[in-house]
Amino acid sequence: MARNKSIYDKFGVPTAINAVGTKTRIGGTKVREEAAIAMREAAKEFVRISDLQAHASDVIADITGAEAGYVSSGASAGLTLCAAACIAGQNLKTMSMLPADKPPAAEILIPKSHRNSYDRAIRLTGAKLIEIGNNDKTLGPGPSDLEVWEIESAISDQTAAIAYVARNDLPLEPIIEIADIHNIPVMVDAAGTLPPKDNLTEFIEKGADLVIFSGGKAIRGPQSTGVIAGRSDLITSIALQNLDMDAVLETWDPPKRLIDISSLPGVPRQGLGRGFKVGQEEIIGLITALKLFVEEDIEAKYEQWHETALQIGEALRNINGVSVSYSGTNKSSAVTNVVVKLNEDAIGLTSPELVLSLRRENPRIFVGDHEAHRGIFTINPMNIEADEAAYLVDRIRKNLRDR
Ligand SMILES: *Cc1c(COP(=O)(O)O)cnc(C)c1O
Repeated sequence: MARNKSIYDKFGVPTAINAVGTKTRIGGTKVREEAAIAMREAAKEFVRISDLQAHASDVIADITGAEAGYVSSGASAGLTLCAAACIAGQNLKTMSMLPADKPPAAEILIPKSHRNSYDRAIRLTGAKLIEIGNNDKTLGPGPSDLEVWEIESAISDQTAAIAYVARNDLPLEPIIEIADIHNIPVMVDAAGTLPPKDNLTEFIEKGADLVIFSGGKAIRGPQSTGVIAGRSDLITSIALQNLDMDAVLETWDPPKRLIDISSLPGVPRQGLGRGFKVGQEEIIGLITALKLFVEEDIEAKYEQWHETALQIGEALRNINGVSVSYSGTNKSSAVTNVVVKLNEDAIGLTSPELVLSLRRENPRIFVGDHEAHRGIFTINPMNIEADEAAYLVDRIRKNLRDR
């Protein structure tokens, strides 16, 4: 494989071949060419960030069907901003208290089975996560993950929101139904749910108040971006807590459709979200990429990924001591992955050893290692370029044979 000279060569930093999908630790995604060009143009001018976020809000609203939207510095930052908005609303005093050990009304309910490492982003506000549901599906009939009464009985005057992670294990509708009765917002972490594209509108349609997506996964915007779609009053709260607020009250004049100052007693100073600022280049890059993602023929992409997976999988199948299967199919929304099982004794090399030696090459090669301890490695085709597939197979073969 003839690799073009890369900017990273100039800095002596090895590049990587990505066979693991969208992983932040190796750069997440390749920013769409058009988005990268737009970012370069964006860097040439000053612009009022609130004007740009107001425009992004219109674009996101149009695409998701939500009232409003906001560009965050990633989905994780989006979770923090959304939690802060649910806790503070338009209350300047509460905003000024965050993060607090005990902010007022800052309990956020979360299904026990939805606890994950990213919920730290919610707890950053000072919110206390209250687990709901027994998470005991495995007991058979009767108990389920989360029952309606369990949600209802956990709601109190301290409840600021209900957090939900989109992953098809628990229906969202009953949660929203109860939350609506009690006037409590529901925030949905949908960071990794694209594609399918339908998920851009799915959770909003079901009545979620805030939905968060990563901008640097399948959307292929800058990886330090996220998309928030939701209720306009909550988006206003996000803007108030994220934007630079070194403003003078008498001359403070943000775009009205993003921040209506007529109901505010003053300027909320640098808020909880100030550290998650988003640059003009990133906002432009994200909205450019988002529009292209919506227009893209995703079925053709699935087919292309499926073909790449087959090409690699069938070539690897010919190596002694290697067995190949596939997860996902080209017919569903799941991307076909190659699952490679090594006969470690016959080969004389373990899966973790192979994963590591690939990773130490130049360019580095990243394959999926979640099941390495079981003698398995995986290949996700989403970020493998046409000219990289044969090289990848060749390097795996060499590493298995020539040691
Ligand atoms: C990727 C992911 C995140 C973090 O997204 P970033 O855009 O990298 O901040 C949060 N939650 C879930 C479920 C994810 O898959």
